[in-house]
Amino acid sequence: MTHAKPTRIVLASNNPGKLREIDQLLAGAGMHVEPQRSFDIGEAEETGLSFVENAILKARHAAAGSGLPAIADDSGIEVDALDGAPGIYSARYAGPGADDAANIDRLLMDLRDVPEAERTARYQCVMVYLRHPVDPTPLVCVGTWEGRILREPRGSNGFGYDPLFYVPTHGCSAAELDPDTKNALSHRGQALRELVARLTAPRA
Ligand code: IMP
Repeated sequence: MTHAKPTRIVLASNNPGKLREIDQLLAGAGMHVEPQRSFDIGEAEETGLSFVENAILKARHAAAGSGLPAIADDSGIEVDALDGAPGIYSARYAGPGADDAANIDRLLMDLRDVPEAERTARYQCVMVYLRHPVDPTPLVCVGTWEGRILREPRGSNGFGYDPLFYVPTHGCSAAELDPDTKNALSHRGQALRELVARLTAPRA
């Protein structure tokens, strides 16, 4: 009996949580995901003005450096009272190299005079797959998760803005959800499941 070798894919991230989750979902379909660190690939410059541009820049950089198809995501939080900020700048909202606590403080400060009804926000995630660095038709999948910005942090799970992100369907912050529940609801979980479904769909 012969076993086909799994198709190798590079992930344009070194985050072990993302790697495990994506690899588990794709393993059953004969695909194996490896972090870009294994190919000595450094961070791509995120010079785009939208999530989709940045996701494609990251995937192209990883595909070019590895010679493999690539998956990348870009995500952030959009706050309506701030006209969609911090958006693509979510990771560095409080300045270059800002940590989660500094970003949370800045968001609370910027929203200090904003009443409850106007504190609506959403997480966005765009996940892309490029067959090769100049693939003209990337697969692009989008996930969106609606919520509101709390007045003070709650909970200690998750990362980033999760302690401030109130999830109306569950009556708690994203940082008070267990990881499986967050994955089932989140922008990233939605985008990833769509990408996996499209990559594993039988060809017509
Ligand atoms: P990137 O997609 O890895 O560039 O991350 C963008 C930034 O958006 C993160 O550093 C967080 O500040 C924020 N962010 C994205 N997704 C989440 C999430 O699920 N929870 C909390 N913050 C998030």
